[in-house]
Amino acid sequence: MTYIVNERCIKCKYMDYVEVCPVDCFYEGENMLVIHPDECIDCGVCEPECPVDAIKPDTESGLEQWLDINTQYAAVWPNITRKREPPADAKDWEGKPGKPNCFQRNPASVIEHRTARWPISEGPLRLIAALDCPGRRPD
Ligand code: SF4
Repeated sequence: MTYIVNERCIKCKYMDYVEVCPVDCFYEGENMLVIHPDECIDCGVCEPECPVDAIKPDTESGLEQWLDINTQYAAVWPNITRKREPPADAKDWEGKPGKPNCFQRNPASVIEHRTARWPISEGPLRLIAALDCPGRRPD
């Protein structure tokens, strides 16, 4: 079992739960975060911290696609351990239908992570890996 981030995070990206994770297993894309399933210890403390209910245990039905996306992109997006300001229009996107079509495969930028606990020496390598990521968009 693991916890995953689903489509409710897309373009909201509130990041409230990042700082409560005891194993720092959140990774940041351009418009959402994901959890690394192999690093998550299933403690569940992040789930109630998300204001848009975007974090779920993968034991819930219908989340297979999001388990796949969390697995793929946690391997190539940069790690995030500090909460930052959400997008200015985050409120407008809360609960909107069709958000999977807005999913962006790009990683969060290196510039944003200069203020995070992301090793600078590791950053450019991970960014290059992310740009090469074949990934796939949700159906
Ligand atoms: Fe981190 Fe626990 Fe949430 Fe897993 S369940 S992402 S270990 S806070």
